[in-house]
Amino acid sequence: MINLKDKINSRNDLLLNEVLESYWNGLNKKTAKGDYYRNSLISKCEKVLIKIKTKKYLKDVADNCNETRNRHKGLIEFFMESNHKNLSRLIKGNPNELSVIKNEILKIIKEDDVCSLIKGQYTQTEFGKILSEDIFSYKSFRSSKLCRDILVRLGFTSVSCPYCNLNKLSVINITNTTSTSQKNKALLDLDHFYPKVIHPYFSLSFYNLIPSCHDCNSSIKKEKKFSIETHINPYHESFDDIYKFELSLDSLHNKKAEKVELKKITKLNDSTANDLLLLDRYNNNISEVEGLVDFFYKNQHSLQGENKEYFIDLLSNVSNVLFDKMDINKFCYSKIKRDLLRQLDIHNLLDIK
Ligand SMILES: [Zn+2]
Repeated sequence: MINLKDKINSRNDLLLNEVLESYWNGLNKKTAKGDYYRNSLISKCEKVLIKIKTKKYLKDVADNCNETRNRHKGLIEFFMESNHKNLSRLIKGNPNELSVIKNEILKIIKEDDVCSLIKGQYTQTEFGKILSEDIFSYKSFRSSKLCRDILVRLGFTSVSCPYCNLNKLSVINITNTTSTSQKNKALLDLDHFYPKVIHPYFSLSFYNLIPSCHDCNSSIKKEKKFSIETHINPYHESFDDIYKFELSLDSLHNKKAEKVELKKITKLNDSTANDLLLLDRYNNNISEVEGLVDFFYKNQHSLQGENKEYFIDLLSNVSNVLFDKMDINKFCYSKIKRDLLRQLDIHNLLDIK
């Protein structure tokens, strides 16, 4: 719920660049002689380019249409030009850069070159499958040590989902008792901010892979069209700066957490909260904040003057309310708890920023 990039940079501002370099090198491993391995992204692009130039491709994939084949060829050549400069932008580019690249790509190919919309569902074309399976193979990356190592390095070992702040994400150590090998297992989803069925070329783009919970990714977001113009990419923007939770008027009147509302503070055209059904999900779990609201009403007299420290001590027994917003991603429900306390503490005596 706060910008992941800011959070990571607050710990170590060189880490993201280092991770991006290891990621690029991990996807493009070289032999001792300095040649790229056959399973490197660069070699895979070269291989697909050769395939596209064959008569068989023209017949089987491009429906005997030279223009179609030329668009496919144009895309791979775009990745490879100037010493694969655009391939590197595609993998390492930040969310703004990905938005620029998307427009550049859609000048070379048409959206229906990679997918078609049939009865409200996107299906990949043959060319879409070639991109997502023969080049940008997400499945093999997701099951790789490279993926787990990056998640651990970036601190996703124990955090809450950056989209919803409702569910926990973790990377755990598994010790295999039959051997001495130790492996990590990532108990989280990697959401493709730009869905891979519509944008298969972003299947491995670092800033398109959002560590998130299963509810947000697989049950709710699925293949909804997201973009940074209309949605929050957690590496780009902070939900905390764009939305705030508030108790409903009835709740305030009854001094009880009965219902919350979600108010947009900025970015008026944002659809993230609606598309992720956040308000319904929070109201369905309202009991998580009942104790905090109840505590506030019963103890607010202690918040005055010299009893403030005492109030904060008591508060820490009922809830891990985080005074530093950079800690919001640590625990589930921390965003809503901070917002509700700020609403109740009308003179901001708790100094929640
Ligand atoms: Zn989530």
